[in-house]
This record gives sequence, C-alpha cells and structure tokens, in this order.
Amino acid sequence: MTTPLESVAWIHGARDCSGTGDPLVQVHRMDRDTFVLRLSKCYSFEANFLYLLLGRERALLLDTGARPDAGARDRALPLRRTVDELVTGWAAERGVPEPELVVAHTHAHGDHVSGDDQFTDRPRTRVVAPTLAAVTGFFGLPDWPEGRAGLDLGGRELSVVPLPGHEPTHVAVHDPRTRALFTGDTLYPGLLTVRDWPAYRRSAARLADLVRQEEVSVVLGAHVEMTSTPGVLYPLGTTWQPDEHPLPLTAAHVLELHEACEAMAGAPHVDVHDSFVIQPLAADGAPSGSPPGA
Ligand SMILES: [Zn+2]
Ligand SMILES: [Zn+2]
Repeated sequence: MTTPLESVAWIHGARDCSGTGDPLVQVHRMDRDTFVLRLSKCYSFEANFLYLLLGRERALLLDTGARPDAGARDRALPLRRTVDELVTGWAAERGVPEPELVVAHTHAHGDHVSGDDQFTDRPRTRVVAPTLAAVTGFFGLPDWPEGRAGLDLGGRELSVVPLPGHEPTHVAVHDPRTRALFTGDTLYPGLLTVRDWPAYRRSAARLADLVRQEEVSVVLGAHVEMTSTPGVLYPLGTTWQPDEHPLPLTAAHVLELHEACEAMAGAPHVDVHDSFVIQPLAADGAPSGSPPGA
C-alpha cells in the first residue's frame, strides 16, 4: 500500500534550517513505476516537486530543481545519486535491464533545470536542453503551440502538450497509467505568474480540452505556495510551511483555471481562488491589475 498523495507528510522546511534532520530530497513512491521527489525548503525556498516515471525502455525525469539559496547549509543536492538508486532499484525489483534516462523539463526557469549538469556524464542518458528548438524537436511538436506528442517509455505512453504563457517552452505531461497530469508552474497550489497572457489563456483552454477528453484524476504541479486556508498564500521566499495546501489538484481545478481565464479575457488581473492565485505580469514583470477590492 502506498500513501495517497493528498495525505503524504512532505518535508516543508524548518523554522531553523540549521537544526533540521530532514533530507534534501524526499522520495515518495506514488505507484510501482512512479516517484515524486520533493526538494527541501532548507536547500531552496522553491522546494520543487520533481517526477520520475519509469517504463521498460525509458525513464523520464521531469525537472531537476533549483540552485541552493544563498544561505543554504547544504549546497550539493544529491539528485543524481537519488535518481540512480531509484532506477537501479526499480530494475532489480523487476529483474529487467535498467531503462535509459530522459531528463526533460516542464519549462526552462532556473528552479527546474539547475540539476541538469549532474546528468550530463551519465551513461544512456539524454538531457533535453531547455530551449524551444530542443523541446519541439525532441518531443516532435512541429505545430507548437498546437498539437500533442507521444512519448513512449516502453509499455507506458505519455502525452506531451504545449503550455506556453508562464514561460515560452512550458509543457504539460499526461500519464494515462496513473491518470496524472503534470502541470509544472502553469497550475499548482500557489502563485501562478503569467508573462504572456494570450498564450497562457490558450494554454488553459488546451489543458481544459485535455481533461475533458482524457481521464485525469490528479493534477500535479511543481510547487506548493498556498496555505491550507483558502485563498491565502505563503509570502514569496518562505522556508517553513507547516500548514501548506496539499500537492494534488484535480481536473476541476483545470476547468476552474480555464473559466477564470475566459472570464478575464482581454483584461487580466490578479485573481484569487481557493487553491491558486493567477497573477498576470506586465511586460516589465510588475503585476498587472489588482484583485477586486484590494
Ligand atoms: Zn517557472
Ligand atoms: Zn518553478
């Protein structure tokens, strides 16, 4: 029996990071072939969630995490070692050869790609560069941002969907096996910053189409920044979140995001929901518009 995702006790930083015995990387086995890795808030306040999906031929590591914060005590993230142990252990458990490893990203922001260099010398490993040319070329998305691509892990076919708006190379990954939709920084329980509003609005529509067409029982993003109080965020840079929102969202949240984007249409503004906050940014990076009543 594995713990359901909504009741996993995640590491969530510490009041005093110098005194914590938490690991830098927490591993949760979501099912036989799927692992969720959470990075410590005492390493980086971003505390990214990374995902490792295994198939007979190939394993996919989605994102490689952040650089250490300036004041972090431990500066070397044991990501490569953790992934190697998981892949080796998985293959041994099944009595099969180790699958090759694909290291790819939800998008190119620094907190999602900074561990890439740990994998550059790994045998039988492909690190997909976080550029639009490399992403569209590797997955096979010639009509970006339209279309979908398949990624066959060997007995496990994933679907990759263009999702620009938060960042220009952003993708979502759908896994029919676990009915999970991995949404990176486009949708997670936190502050959803939007740099290209028209692109983000179309991406939200594309994501809504997907959850109407496919089975999606869990929506997994890359961070948790909401508290367990509806509509209330932890401040940016928080390194202790004792009362954080659960990681998993649902297909209903995808539809809620789409509806919110359509309601704002051409006049985007800060829009507070129970489980996420949409924050469109102006070209200079400043928030555009204000929340109603704020
Ligand atoms: Zn991002
Ligand atoms: Zn991020």
